Amino acid sequence: MTNRFDYLVVGAGSAGCVLANRLTADPETSVLLVEAGDSDRNNPLISIPRGFGELLGDPESVWHYPTRPFGPNQQIEYWVRGKTLGGSSSVNGMVYNRGEPDDYETLRALGNDEWGWEDMLPAFRSIEAHPFGPSATRGGDGPLHLSTAGRGERLLEDVVEAGVEMGWRRVPDHNDAEGERIGFAMATIRDGRRWSAADAFLHPIADRPNLTVALGVRVDRILVDDGRAIGVEVRRDGKTEEFFAAREVILCAGALATPKLLQLSGIGDRATLDAAGVRQMVDGPKVGAGMREHRVFTLQYRLTEDAGYNRLLATAEGRQQSMARYEAQRDGPMAAPSFDLVGFFKTRPELKRPDAQIQVAPFSMLPPQPGRGIEIERDPGLLCIAYMLRPTSKGAVRITSSEPEADLDIEPGYLTTDHDRQTTVDIVRCVRRLFATSALENWIEHETAPGVEVQNSQEIIDAGLRTGSAGYHAIGTAAMGPEDDDVVDTRLRVRGVSGLRVVDASVLPTMVSGNLNGPIMAMAWRAGDLILDDA
Ligand SMILES: Cc1cc2nc3c(=O)[nH]c(=O)nc-3n(C[C@H](O)[C@H](O)[C@H](O)COP(=O)(O)OP(=O)(O)OC[C@H]3O[C@@H](n4cnc5c(N)ncnc54)[C@H](O)[C@@H]3O)c2cc1C
Repeated sequence: MTNRFDYLVVGAGSAGCVLANRLTADPETSVLLVEAGDSDRNNPLISIPRGFGELLGDPESVWHYPTRPFGPNQQIEYWVRGKTLGGSSSVNGMVYNRGEPDDYETLRALGNDEWGWEDMLPAFRSIEAHPFGPSATRGGDGPLHLSTAGRGERLLEDVVEAGVEMGWRRVPDHNDAEGERIGFAMATIRDGRRWSAADAFLHPIADRPNLTVALGVRVDRILVDDGRAIGVEVRRDGKTEEFFAAREVILCAGALATPKLLQLSGIGDRATLDAAGVRQMVDGPKVGAGMREHRVFTLQYRLTEDAGYNRLLATAEGRQQSMARYEAQRDGPMAAPSFDLVGFFKTRPELKRPDAQIQVAPFSMLPPQPGRGIEIERDPGLLCIAYMLRPTSKGAVRITSSEPEADLDIEPGYLTTDHDRQTTVDIVRCVRRLFATSALENWIEHETAPGVEVQNSQEIIDAGLRTGSAGYHAIGTAAMGPEDDDVVDTRLRVRGVSGLRVVDASVLPTMVSGNLNGPIMAMAWRAGDLILDDA
């Protein structure tokens, strides 16, 4: 196999699969897509939507990145990321969210002229195969197949009614609506199977002769010669190899691994690189800094009757029944996304747009154990996660050594601003009002988590830090911007090194409202336009 290509794309995740597709559309352009993980076809749990709970505990298919200790208990949590074709889109919760037009207008207002809503809407329309058909705002025949999670569960219908009682609108497609709203989730699921970025963008073009996919190959460093990225150093089967790019190296390794690769290659702030023993090549004061992540607050309720999925997911017998139903009909709890309902609401009526999101599922979990998958309670329960859409708190990601195997220092930076703490308290109080509406009075026995004893602001914040989780939506670690010290420019080119771009969740300087997979795929589609224009 040759080791020279026009483009090297590092990481076959949500962004990498899209770019591999777009850049090889011209048969004259050669692309090497390098992925540290294995084929997504090796693990049958990937394609089964509710297989994801078990999947998250499998180190063959996911990375587990430990954070530094945080919160009142100084606990460590493990940030999960996909390590297989499709990246995190192969292990995620499959809720399809686009973010709001204002999110992209914010990017533009920050000086990122290429990323306004009029740039992004066409990208979303190009990628979507929407179950409601094409329209001015939806795509009809794109590669990304979507479906809706609605399956007539009485309990969930009543949660929607509860939202209506709160003054929120019931909507059939939460992406094609604004304001306070609730409805069944749109999901990256096709005919009962997960539809990852690999399913949408990579597998259909696997036979293009100008595309090479290297699996089980970990990129350790970017090779830079005279200020230009010329290739990458990789580790395969315990040996070091090099690949070379005639045009560009494009980092799509995600918001944790991309800043790590930049820093390992000497692109970063002096103090971090000195402490890790890496010689600085390019001063990048913001590499790894400016990270934002959703802190997810978990509320759980005991149900008055044995409804929901617990009895079907908690015991071996129940799981067998659910799998048999799934195999026969591609239906039932195993065919559902992580959360069936999605709602967006305002914590204060005077806000211009929602600042909070909930996701609701008719099952409940045992307390999470580090490095293990999701485990289900036996008694009937309901889970509602809630988070602030656009946190202002910032964390950071730093290498701790020049060795690629060494752990990162991940500083989550959760709830460090007054705004984020107050909003979190308001969100929890609002969710409690939702579950106390008359639509749900016959369903809810009591709150099991965090529990009614958690009442004042400090107790609520502590509970969020102690028993909540990461949203798996970290961004901002190689953020775009027009200033000289922004890591990438508005066309996503790394400042200080030519021939090097970043296209993944790292480049977002501010949070897109809600879940990230859709926005990252659409941004990669848009980045494809920019890269092809610049070629
Ligand atoms: C558990 C979980 C649940 C989520 N739920 C949802 C959801 O329901 N809805 C939603 O919209 N979003 C969800 N997300 C978020 C969303 O999936 C991610 O934000 C998005 O997939 C990120 O895309 P990316 O391209 O930036 O990175 P990724 O998709 O993570 O891709 C990075 C790829 O790079 C590879 N890689 C990393 N380091 C190297 C290296 N050194 N060499 C070679 N390859 C490397 C990785 O193995 C991976 O394949 C979830 C994420 C997780 C982890």
